[in-house]
Amino acid sequence: MEFFLGTSSSSWLRREDVGVPLCVAYPRLAAIKGELPRAVVPWILDSGGFNEVTQRGEYRAAAIDYVRAVRRYADEIGNLRWAACQDWMCEPPALARSGRSVNGHQHLSIDNYITLRGEWGPGSPFVPPLQGNSRDAFLRHVDMYARRGIDLTRAPLVSVGSVCRMQSTSEIGRVLGALASLGLKMHGFGVKTLGLRAFWPFLLSADSQAWSKNARANADDIYIDVPEHTHPRGGKTCSSCHVYALAWRKRMLASLPAAPSHTVMELPGIYGEGRSSLTRAEPPRVRYRPGIPIYSRRSS
Ligand SMILES: [Zn+2]
Repeated sequence: MEFFLGTSSSSWLRREDVGVPLCVAYPRLAAIKGELPRAVVPWILDSGGFNEVTQRGEYRAAAIDYVRAVRRYADEIGNLRWAACQDWMCEPPALARSGRSVNGHQHLSIDNYITLRGEWGPGSPFVPPLQGNSRDAFLRHVDMYARRGIDLTRAPLVSVGSVCRMQSTSEIGRVLGALASLGLKMHGFGVKTLGLRAFWPFLLSADSQAWSKNARANADDIYIDVPEHTHPRGGKTCSSCHVYALAWRKRMLASLPAAPSHTVMELPGIYGEGRSSLTRAEPPRVRYRPGIPIYSRRSS
C-alpha cells in the first residue's frame, strides 16, 4: 500500500525535509494568491469534498473551474499523481446537509466524474469515486457506473470515500472485501489509523491526516518518538507540524500488521444464499459483467 500523508500545508510539497508522498485538498491550493509551490514529491489532490458537502451541502467550485485549477496544478506544481472528483459522500451529516438520498449522491458522483473527464479530454487525472453507506449500496454504485458504460473493474484506480469513516469496523470490512473481490483497485480516502491497520491489504493506496487531530489531542504523545524541535510561529501543539507528522507516519506504517496469508471476506450474494464467507489466499477475482446487478436485492 502506498501512503499519502494528508496535510493542510501546501508548502510541504516543495520541502525536501518532508520528502514523502502527500495528499493536499483543493481549498488549500485555491487560497494561494501568488506563485504555487513546485512539488518535489508525488502528491494527490483531494477535492475537499467532505467539508464542502457536510458543511455546505454543495461544491462552491463549478466543475469546469475545478478542471481548470487541476490543469494548472498539474502544470505548475507538477508531480500530481491523480485528482479526486467532486464526489458526494454518504455519511448521515452529508445527507442531512444536502437533503438528498444515498442514491442521489451516488448519481451526482458519477455525473461529476463524467463531466470532469469530458472537460479534461484524453489523459484525465480524475479517479472515479465510489460512495455508499453499506456493502450493498457500494455494490449498487459499481453497477450504476456500469449502466453508464463505465466498467470500474478496468479502472486503474477507484477512490473509496465514506466507507473509511463508518462506525462499524465489520461493515467496513464487508464493503472493502466485497469491492476487492470484484478486483477493484482502491484508494481509501481519509482512513483512520485503526482502519488502516485492519484493512490496508485491500487498498492499493490510502491517505490520512489523522496525525493532526492526534497531535492536538495529545500534545505530549509519549508513544511517538518526536525529535526535539520548535514551531516557527510559537504553535503550542504539533497539529500542523511536519516533524510530528513524519514521526507519526513512520510509526503508523511500522505498526501495520503483515498482510494475512488468508483473507476472509464476505462476498456478494451472487455466490450463493445471501452472504458467504470464503477463505482464499488472494482476494478472489470475480468475473463481473457490467450491467448485471451483483448486490443482494433482499438486504437492500
Ligand atoms: Zn511539532
